[in-house]
Amino acid sequence: MIDVDLKEEKRLVAQSGQQQFDLVVVGAGPGGYVAAIRAAQLGMRTAIVEREHLGGVCLNWGCIPTKSLLKSAEVYQTLLNADAYGLAFSGAGFDLKQVVQRSRDVAARLRSGVEGLMAKNRVQVFTGNGWLQSPGVVEVTHADDTRSVLQAPHIIFATGASPREIPGVRADGKVIWTAREAMTPEALPESLLVIGAGAIGIEFASFYRTFGTAVTVIESLDAILPQEDADISAAAQRSLKKRGISFHTGARVESVDVSDTSATVCWTDSSGESRSEQFDRVILAVGVAANTQGLGLVEQGVKLERGQVVVDEWCRTSVDGVYAIGDMTAPPLLAHKASHEAVICVEKIAGVAGVEPLDPMSVPRCTYSSPQVASVGLTEEQARAQGLSVRVGKFDLRGLGKAHAVGEMDGLVKTVFDDDSGELLGAHMIGPAVTELIQGYVVAKNLETTEQELMDTVFAHPTLSEAMHESVLDAFDQAIHA
Ligand code: NAD
Repeated sequence: MIDVDLKEEKRLVAQSGQQQFDLVVVGAGPGGYVAAIRAAQLGMRTAIVEREHLGGVCLNWGCIPTKSLLKSAEVYQTLLNADAYGLAFSGAGFDLKQVVQRSRDVAARLRSGVEGLMAKNRVQVFTGNGWLQSPGVVEVTHADDTRSVLQAPHIIFATGASPREIPGVRADGKVIWTAREAMTPEALPESLLVIGAGAIGIEFASFYRTFGTAVTVIESLDAILPQEDADISAAAQRSLKKRGISFHTGARVESVDVSDTSATVCWTDSSGESRSEQFDRVILAVGVAANTQGLGLVEQGVKLERGQVVVDEWCRTSVDGVYAIGDMTAPPLLAHKASHEAVICVEKIAGVAGVEPLDPMSVPRCTYSSPQVASVGLTEEQARAQGLSVRVGKFDLRGLGKAHAVGEMDGLVKTVFDDDSGELLGAHMIGPAVTELIQGYVVAKNLETTEQELMDTVFAHPTLSEAMHESVLDAFDQAIHA
């Protein structure tokens, strides 16, 4: 079958210098490669264009390698704490090179898995820079300067986003790191400043602190993980502070002076006082900006707003036959949102019946620091700001048998209900394994489960998930262990 396709390709190229597909996807991250696979499953002749690695930032330089690093940190932390479990263990150490190598190996293994998936699904991969020559035509410039011209009635852009910088602070890759350098350190810095307390900043702060670096975090808003519910942000800050991380929230970075080996950073703290300190390394984690330049999008009339591609509920841009998914569109900028949009977009193109648009309120958010943070839906503040009548449940992990048994009692589960309808508006968790547990609430939200159905659900004992049940029960004054 592949041979037949290749022959047909060659014939077309010979005829017109162009190759014809049903769908061309530009960008092979968790948005793009999922779109390509789903399209192939639906019988579409599909090409994907990628300039770097299949799997995109998420698999190669984001979600996956950082989770590998954080697992090493978690194991190390457990070893250091062995005596709390009655274990005699001395001499716990680490080899940073091996820790980093493991994370690179994990990324490489998964990347070759995506290559295998492309071959299995007969998605034709083009390595190079793709851009929209005109609606229906993508041109690919390869590393050797040769070009391919791909024609398709449908073109999906899934080119992601790149780290933002702040005025006067340029990531030089030596002293001032983006996430890429931060996940491949050659040596452990003695002192580290993280600018930005979103998911990336907090995950790196947690990782480096575990291995002994003195970590300071500066955040311009007045809370860390500011997108999370205020109770969870506050709990996260307390826990991370206990682990020795210093925080300056509501602070403004004024200047960064870089030498060969360190950076002197001046900032204004929340009380207006000027402060200055020297750090071995600085990680810039102040958000990302959509990759929309150099793609021919604006030139072809694709509408952008605030630097992001404007799309409708089916991921259609303002130009017929041109679609955009993932981080280059509106938030949340999360891999699983990109993958979900990929499926919606392709199924709609293919005319699959019953496709539902993405409900942003059902997209979970996870931060894999120690402790972990996870949430879905509205925070309590957002629900109140919408004028909803709100009922809140809270359950502290200290009330849970399993949390004591596993020795991880630092955590909270908070649920937010609409008091009029009983609808679960949001769920917010901090503690062990919550990035896995949150999916229980996500399924409940997606199925529009009522508060009574959640209360009537049997949770296995002893499990950490019982805290989810207790939180729901607490919202209706029926918690057992509170
Ligand atoms: P982010 O937007 O989530 O956080 C950036 C933080 O930097 C914000 O809290 C912002 O207020 C702060 N900030 C901005 N300018 C600042 C300044 N000048 N000084 C101090 N603080 C400043 O972005 P991120 O953490 O860089 O992550 C990028 C994207 O990737 C996000 O959309 C994030 O959700 C996603 N991501 C998700 C995960 C995950 O789900 N675990 C992990 C990594 C990244």
